[in-house]
Amino acid sequence: MADMSLLILPGDGIGPEVMTEVRKIIDWFGSTRNLTFDVSEGLVGGASYDAHGTPLTDETMARAQEVDAVLLGAVGGPQYDELDFSVKPERGLLRLRKEMDLYANLRPAQCFDALADFSSLKRDVVSGLDLMIVRELTSGIYFGEPRGIQDDTDGGRVGINTQRYTTAEIRRVARSAFELARKRDNRVCSMEKANVMESGILWRQEVQWVHDNEYPDVELSHMYADAGAMQIVRWPKQFDVIVTDNLFGDLLSDAAAMLTGSLGMLPSASLGTPMENGRPKALYEPVHGSAPDIAGQGKANPIACILSFAMALRYSFDRREDAALLERAVEKALANGARTGDLMAEGDAKPLSTSQMGDAILTILNES
Ligand code: NAD
Repeated sequence: MADMSLLILPGDGIGPEVMTEVRKIIDWFGSTRNLTFDVSEGLVGGASYDAHGTPLTDETMARAQEVDAVLLGAVGGPQYDELDFSVKPERGLLRLRKEMDLYANLRPAQCFDALADFSSLKRDVVSGLDLMIVRELTSGIYFGEPRGIQDDTDGGRVGINTQRYTTAEIRRVARSAFELARKRDNRVCSMEKANVMESGILWRQEVQWVHDNEYPDVELSHMYADAGAMQIVRWPKQFDVIVTDNLFGDLLSDAAAMLTGSLGMLPSASLGTPMENGRPKALYEPVHGSAPDIAGQGKANPIACILSFAMALRYSFDRREDAALLERAVEKALANGARTGDLMAEGDAKPLSTSQMGDAILTILNES
């Protein structure tokens, strides 16, 4: 019996297409590296709504709670735009994140040398970049109470959101960042606005507390989030791990993503509390959506989803060598000129299809 379990939720649009390529890679690791997963598959988003009238069934939710890692493709599509809010495809994904209590969102910004010219920044600024943003995902201003739009005393209206963080919420995401740093270059930069926000002062104090008491071996620095935004586009290679709250993380991780070029290249992980076997609750997914404009045409780049599986190997299963093997295979395929349409420059030859890109990566794995 495999002691590593995976739930695969391909979802909608290009989700199933890119996940087919990930399945090939999973099978390769099984047959070649003796890495066997107990894999189950389910429906999420519009696909689940079409079959069951809900974007996530209780059975699939229960299975997600049992497995070591969930691997998700993408959800959504224009055919679901008119649905009631409660059954929209995105609700399936939100339910997974909420009920699994996935509080640490990991967004790597990694620039493969072969793609450095796709960045809006100069090649030497981004080439070789390997930065990780850890965003707090389940608290902060997107969830804080009170919130709402109310009538104001002057006859106008007032919109209210509340930034609120507790010691426990800050400490647990800080621990995630320090743990990650230990597996990388051992440096964490914490970002907030302690100069103008009390929640930022608490954030800074608590991150420092976790460092001093539990991770004194990791190098810790603090930066105001606005200065951090500037530094991310000025010289991103100065950072190893950045840890920040939900709102600033939303903005900073999107800005960092653009350093690397295409949406089709960006993986992500959302992690929660460790389970009995020591593995954290985990959901891995590409950053991109269901890309209805190219769905069903074999044009999607499967690399973001393949790199999401590499993150699962590293962060759920502690198979760092296997993760690195897969990442190197992606890098080499790109260096050899493998390109899907989203990675094409003017004058390039015909793009590879989704499955041809998967095969190009498998070919390199077979040579390794
Ligand atoms: P999108 O990420 O689906 O697409 C944006 C653009 O990038 C499109 O032109 C698309 O063709 C291209 N693109 C995205 N992924 C690609 C890939 N792997 N290879 C090649 N090109 C790729 O974002 P959108 O168009 O704003 O949203 C489409 C649908 O996806 C919406 O229903 C939205 O709600 C949903 N969505 C889902 C998620 C998710 O599942 N996590 C995230 C974002 C958007």
